[in-house]
Amino acid sequence: MTSDASLLSFAADNPYFQAGFGLLGVGAAMTVARTGSIWAATVLRRRMLVSLEIDNRDRAYEWFLAWMAHRTPPETSRAGRWMRSHELSVATMIERRSNGSSSVFFQLVAGPGTHWFKYKGAWMQVKRQRETRSMMGGQQTGISVPWETVTLTTLSRDRTLFPQLLAEARDLGMRGQEGKLVIHTAWGIEWRPFGKPRRKRPLKSVVLDAGLSDKIEGDITAFLGRRQWYADRGVPYRRAYLLHGPPGSGKTSFIQALAGSLSYDICIVNLSERGLADDKLNHLLSNVPERSFVLIEDIDAAFNKRVQTTADGYQSSVTFSGFLNALDGVASGEERIVFMTTNHVEKLDPALIRPGRVDFMALVDNASPVQARTLFENFYGESELVADELTRLAQRVEGIVQTKLENGQRISMAALQGHFIRRPVQEAVSTLHEIFPAP
Ligand code: ADP
Repeated sequence: MTSDASLLSFAADNPYFQAGFGLLGVGAAMTVARTGSIWAATVLRRRMLVSLEIDNRDRAYEWFLAWMAHRTPPETSRAGRWMRSHELSVATMIERRSNGSSSVFFQLVAGPGTHWFKYKGAWMQVKRQRETRSMMGGQQTGISVPWETVTLTTLSRDRTLFPQLLAEARDLGMRGQEGKLVIHTAWGIEWRPFGKPRRKRPLKSVVLDAGLSDKIEGDITAFLGRRQWYADRGVPYRRAYLLHGPPGSGKTSFIQALAGSLSYDICIVNLSERGLADDKLNHLLSNVPERSFVLIEDIDAAFNKRVQTTADGYQSSVTFSGFLNALDGVASGEERIVFMTTNHVEKLDPALIRPGRVDFMALVDNASPVQARTLFENFYGESELVADELTRLAQRVEGIVQTKLENGQRISMAALQGHFIRRPVQEAVSTLHEIFPAP
């Protein structure tokens, strides 16, 4: 500003500048001065400020936003209250429990725009930007995924705070997951954690037919120990399991408990989801986060309908051959563990369950008398009953289920669980004969 003003007074005193030519010169000089000050500001900025960009494909992105949301009053100083920003976004998290109920949580995170906060005495500027851009696969699938970045800017002298801040954000993010099961679902063509991490379910709490649980666990543990064996022979390092049987027999619960016991995450694919086309499925299965099981439920349901297309001609459902291709995948050295479930194994195409595509198939059935007894013991083992009494009641449970079976009545494990959950022990046994049989 000062340089502009002095240039003008110089021009007024000088006869040459009476002419239009002179004004042109002033214009040029002012431009130079202005450009000079922009240039000086840029140099200053470069020298004095340092920026860090995180994009939404990086895990640090979620961690950072959650960490920032965590720094809200009352635990932060006034300066830390970035929440006074006017641009907020809501991150909705849905937690589904195995009994079918769910809770929804909202977290207010920094929305697109500019925010400020103070960290360890240093001011930081946070710029969250969003643009819609087609990512990989967008051309063919017509899927566009919002591309987002957050850019943190602070004074150069405070640059060492970035790693500290990121480590804090990571620790906070990981703390919520430690000892928990993380479920991912497809979000566009990416995997994103779904809901809050869940408490792991003990494997023993899912009661399968005698020996089945150990057999599956043994198989997968052996597989995980043979990575080198596969690599030496050039065999793709993958294993696929198919659990079939009536609903409510524990297929999903077992897979989740197994993942938890091996400290694996689960990536759930819903084949009947609208808009899930062959190439998107292929992309998702080829980009599963490390240490994750892929879980594809009700695989029979997906192929009963005709291939659908959207108004603009894109394929919007998975074809059978597309599914097989995605399962076979490209031969890479990466580990892939797929679990599939179905209630109707008889409806499946033999091409799907041939060896090589499905390595391990098992029936997970309605309750056997012994399973019913074990579930009963799991539920009431810690009640105040004396051991003898508990054994006597457990035998009665086994006997009732045996008689029902002989009369052609099958009971699902889910129904048994529902029966036990709501009743005190004596009543649970005396009313067991009323339990609703499986269809
Ligand atoms: P599926 O996948 O076979 O339809 P789920 O795993 O969804 O069955 O089970 C539904 C509910 O019933 C869950 O709450 C689970 O705890 C209970 N349940 C079903 N089978 C078993 C089992 N074998 N042992 C313990 N609980 C079971």
